[in-house]
Amino acid sequence: MNLHPNKVSNVKDDAGYISSINKLRKKKNAVILAHYYQVPEIQEIADFVGDSLALSKRALDTKSEIIVFCGVHFMAETAKIINPDKKVLLPDLSAGCSLSESCTPEALIEWKKDFPDHTVVSYINTSAGIKSLSDVIVTSSNAEKIINSFPKDEKILFAPDKNMGAYLNQITGRNMKLWDGVCMVHEAFSLEKIERIVAQNPKSKIIAHPESSMNILRIADFIGSTSDLLRFVTTDTTTDSYIVATEIGILHEMKKRVPHKKLISAPVKNSYECNCSECFYMKVNTLKKLYLCLQNETPEITLDPDLIRKALPPLQRMFTISSK
Ligand code: 13P
Ligand code: SF4
Repeated sequence: MNLHPNKVSNVKDDAGYISSINKLRKKKNAVILAHYYQVPEIQEIADFVGDSLALSKRALDTKSEIIVFCGVHFMAETAKIINPDKKVLLPDLSAGCSLSESCTPEALIEWKKDFPDHTVVSYINTSAGIKSLSDVIVTSSNAEKIINSFPKDEKILFAPDKNMGAYLNQITGRNMKLWDGVCMVHEAFSLEKIERIVAQNPKSKIIAHPESSMNILRIADFIGSTSDLLRFVTTDTTTDSYIVATEIGILHEMKKRVPHKKLISAPVKNSYECNCSECFYMKVNTLKKLYLCLQNETPEITLDPDLIRKALPPLQRMFTISSK
């Protein structure tokens, strides 16, 4: 814990934060990694923007002494597990995740007791504690490949995303037992409202992240991780209009790559003010917090070395299988 009070920012506006961040990252040999769901200003200033898998690979390869992770807590924690000797900073420690919070190590231990002969496959959206209790970690980019690397009759527990688990069962022909967790953002898409948009824009294609619920995935023309969705709108030539069922932050990069295409953020249930689907955890990071975090080198992710030792092998297994 840093016992020194944070230095107060005397920088006043975005231009000031940007120039100070640029000076500090050079001086401190820091790399700024950002997820596609971060606010546009952070995506613009980051050294690298990617999905969970690409970001964890980038964290694995970096030579920088400090990693500033602009994403949510489990992502920064993953960077720390694979880089125990580096300083990993997260601009706001309250950047959580409903999936990660749905599954505690104590509850997973109890679940495993009921199925002692099962392999535990966990989504990367989990705490270090859950990773340490898992056999292998997956992201939305490599889950299908990793599950298919096991024999067809392998008994598997999949945690914590029941939507992604059900989708993976369908596409891999497995019968994995599923933890009852959801992403509160992807769970909220409204089938009825999406169908209304399709009726008004009949040429639109629906593209969805596999964290979405089955009623949305069933009508989707394409399903994939944030990077897959980005690649799809960039390369697809069959239409120029897309309803995007994932967090709205991805639209920033999509609009940059295909400014001539129509991109509609999939509407959510129970929202009358806006049709957008925002992960408020992802949005707690701001330019000001990024600047303060680089200046003060806090908040820092710290983990017990024994926990790191146990959480690393399932992540290494993920990198090995997904690179084959
Ligand atoms: P990606 O693996 O597509 O980056 O997904 C991470 C995430 O949290 C989606 O909600
Ligand atoms: Fe977690 Fe969902 Fe936010 Fe992704 S979008 S970080 S899964 S709450």
